[in-house]
Amino acid sequence: MTTLHIAGEWRAAASGETREITCPADRSVVVTVDEGGVADALEAVRAARRAFDEGPWPSTPTPERAALLTRIADRLERELEDVARLEALDTGKRMVEARLDMQDIVAVFRHFASLAQAEAGRVIDAGMPDISSRVVTEPVGVCALITPWNFPLLQTAWKVAPALAAGNTFVLKPSELTPQTAIWLVRALTEEGLPAGVANLVLGPGATVGAAMTSAPEVDLVSFTGGLETGRTIMAAAAGTVKKIALELGGKNPNIIFADADLDAAIDNALTAIFLDSGQVCSAGSRLVVEESIHDQVVDELVRRAPAIRMGGPFDESAETGPLISDGHRDKVEAHVAAAVAEGAVLRCGGERPGGALSKGSYYPPTILDGCTSDMTCVQEESFGPVLTVETFSGETRDAAEDAAIAIANDTIYGLTGAVWTQDAGRAERMARRLRHGTVWINDFHPYVPAAEWGGMKQSGIGRELGTAGLHEYQETKHIWHNTRPARAGWFHDPQG
Ligand code: NDP
Repeated sequence: MTTLHIAGEWRAAASGETREITCPADRSVVVTVDEGGVADALEAVRAARRAFDEGPWPSTPTPERAALLTRIADRLERELEDVARLEALDTGKRMVEARLDMQDIVAVFRHFASLAQAEAGRVIDAGMPDISSRVVTEPVGVCALITPWNFPLLQTAWKVAPALAAGNTFVLKPSELTPQTAIWLVRALTEEGLPAGVANLVLGPGATVGAAMTSAPEVDLVSFTGGLETGRTIMAAAAGTVKKIALELGGKNPNIIFADADLDAAIDNALTAIFLDSGQVCSAGSRLVVEESIHDQVVDELVRRAPAIRMGGPFDESAETGPLISDGHRDKVEAHVAAAVAEGAVLRCGGERPGGALSKGSYYPPTILDGCTSDMTCVQEESFGPVLTVETFSGETRDAAEDAAIAIANDTIYGLTGAVWTQDAGRAERMARRLRHGTVWINDFHPYVPAAEWGGMKQSGIGRELGTAGLHEYQETKHIWHNTRPARAGWFHDPQG
């Protein structure tokens, strides 16, 4: 089976190279795919350019484009178990999580199918009887879509669905570690009738394939989800031809618990906030910011429960969380924890890779670092693993406590998500408005809906996915002024009279 898709054809890499994909739960080889390079990337970009410039997709009526997205949602519902299995094998995540991801993806395709049809242009009443003035939207053009390994098909859907709804063509490069569901999606799109050249897929390393896509002059927009450093590199590459960019770069997200919170719910959700999907979630609640008076009660309970979280592979039904994505990533997380302890953090649990059957995979246990302060590297930098840092705040008055919590929670270069736990509705609202983060949960952590925008402030990124803004990222806005009674402007004098 060939796995690159360029100009409507499935093909091998120009170099003939391939790559083995392994499951991080046990390091077994799950599939061999073609490993593209710069030549494949540039050919895919040219194919997407031709498909955009020559059509028919950009001028296909919106209801037809929406119908295609709906067919993808229907098909994913029918094939959900098989696609979830591909995702679980590539990422090592448990089937139960992979199935939930698939349900989210169905909802994302349905959201953009209906939004595409609901979005209309605007007529401006210029107050001039001979003038018709209207604002319309058009596709941006050729999109380079670059996606990570933690939610491979979900992150892809957040980009592919709006890109197609708006009438763009694209080249998709998934993470080289997790390509299987991207292959499924591009196959589904072509079988459901997407014209040749609209959806191109190039597998391969970011440093070659990704870099070629982000600097190619034929590309109009780059949408990227991944790490901050890569985001900076992409932004610089895109600057050469002033491409539009949308970046989702992660976060170091505060989860604030006030003493007046429903502590049972707050503590249980603090575990989910950080340890869900082994902490490999850009929006994970990796910074616990807890009022000093309840610190011991909260942290002792977390330390009691975290080590009991059961780790296991995709098909282990007793498991509650899975492995990290790779041994290399686990090494990074491990080094992060060691550096935290060296700078004074108190290791309360975890911090040591498990033995026994779990040593076959890239597992790392839920880890809690107490006694942290905002100036520590472990608090400022993403570990992107199951690692929770704990900071405390206090204040003699209600306002002082809120100020202290906000000072800690906003002391980060990131601004993706944050949460506040309190039973005081006024406090909750004040805190929500003061947090400089793109999503704020009050008395909850993690839920999202496709109809609401998702994205970060500060160095968490540029632009928004989902919601209505998630479609607008893939659209150009054009103002059309139509003078139905043309007349001389009369600005410059005419020497002949
Ligand atoms: P990267 O940001 O490097 O990878 C994300 C995607 O970008 C992959 O498809 C990758 O390709 C590609 N890429 C890498 N370099 C370039 C480049 N120069 N030009 C274009 N594309 C490129 O993530 P990592 O896997 O290296 O993880 C590093 C850190 O990023 C993590 O520890 C975590 O902190 C963060 N991260 C954040 C995510 C989020 O959801 N916001 C998701 C994943 C990681 P390739 O196939 O070679 O990896």
